[in-house]
Order: sequence, then structure tokens, then C-alpha cells
Amino acid sequence: MLRYSAHLPLSGIGDTGQQRIRASSVALIGVGGLGCAIAQYLVASGIGALTLCDFDTVAESNLARQVLYRPADLGRLKTEAASATLESLNPDTRLQSVNRRMTSADMLTLFPDCDLVIDASDNYGTRLAVNRACLALKTPWIMASCIRMEGQIMMLRPDEASQACYRCVYGSAPDTLEDCPGAGIFAPVAGVIGASAAHFALTHLAGLTQAAGLHLFDAANWQWRSIGIRKAAACRDCGQA
Ligand SMILES: [Zn+2]
Repeated sequence: MLRYSAHLPLSGIGDTGQQRIRASSVALIGVGGLGCAIAQYLVASGIGALTLCDFDTVAESNLARQVLYRPADLGRLKTEAASATLESLNPDTRLQSVNRRMTSADMLTLFPDCDLVIDASDNYGTRLAVNRACLALKTPWIMASCIRMEGQIMMLRPDEASQACYRCVYGSAPDTLEDCPGAGIFAPVAGVIGASAAHFALTHLAGLTQAAGLHLFDAANWQWRSIGIRKAAACRDCGQA
């Protein structure tokens, strides 16, 4: 436990919280800029098991922000390259991979084994599918996204009936998230949002409560803003549950 000794004096974490982190299993959807930052903190901090879900391969344009990959990894599956780096970071975490685009059926098979799901994908469709699967299974999840110099993060608790779901917040909004290479992403912004998602994840797994709401980060003006979220009575995904 010497590795985790800096966590032990922390109020709310301590030995009990660290043991909960060690006993936990997380699914991570997307191992891009956000996913790399999230995974390295989860694994370095000693989570028990992590399943990496990504169908993509490593491209040169990924290397500025996807910090688990090396030039020698170009063309390799991201899940394979990330697993190799993460294993060298902490061999105590059990790593698994899903190397295809996640379907709803994949999610309903994988998520029951997980204490927490983190969506770090780059599209609205995947997040809606994660939302529906997590609602069906009552699995807590974290939504994280970033583009240009902006980021968003939100903890969702379908295990608590009164809580809003992702669709309550976004309604029938079209998929307006642009492709990162086209719109651009400033590398450290992915790190800030990724580290924030890891913070939400590890504190949740340790048994602490997270700040509610949707948290918006504006890196250009270095401002965080939090918006309260409310369950929508007519929500298509959770309204009739
Ligand atoms: Zn809803």
C-alpha cells in the first residue's frame, strides 16, 4: 500500500476509500485525449479493473494529447497500445479491451460487471446509448467531453430515481459535436477535463459524493461554471421509467 500512501491521510478516502478503489471495476468508452488522461490516473491510483473500449488505431495527429501512445504505436489498436503503457504504470490493475464500436448490446453485456462507466467518446449517439444502458442497469456514469478550449463534465446517477439523466439535460439536441481534428482541441484542455473525470471517478468509487450538475470549463478565460440539472417529466429515456 506504500504506493497509495498519499491517499491514506485524506479525509473521506483513507484506508477504507483506497480499498474500495482497489475493489472497483470501471468501463472507459473512448481512449482518445480524454480517455488517456482518465485511464492513467485511474490505473496509477490503483483501481481494481479497467475495460478499455475503442475501435480506433493510433494516428500521428493523436500524439500531442493522447499521452499513452508513442511514435512506435502508430497504426496499432489504441486499446492494445494503451494497455501496454498502463500495465507498465501499474501491473496491479486488471486490464481488458473491447476493440470494436460499442453497440447497445455490448454495453448491456459489459456494464453489469462495472461499478462505474465513463463516457469519453466523441459523439452524442454513443453518449445516448450509454445513457440508456446505464438507466436500464442503474449504473452510475460520468460524461466527459472537450473541444477547442472548452470542456464539460457531469456525474449521472441512474441508481437514484430522482436524478436527471443525460437526455433530460440535452433533450433532442442534434449531434453538434464537431470532429476534433476539424474543430481543434488544445492538448492541455483534454488533460484538465480528463483529470477532472478521474477525480469524479475515484472520489465516487471511494464513497464520496460529487458536486451535482453540469460543469463547464472555458479554458480561454480560465473559468468553471456549474449548471443545475433537473429531471424532465417528459424525458424519452427516463420519464416513464
Ligand atoms: Zn431523462
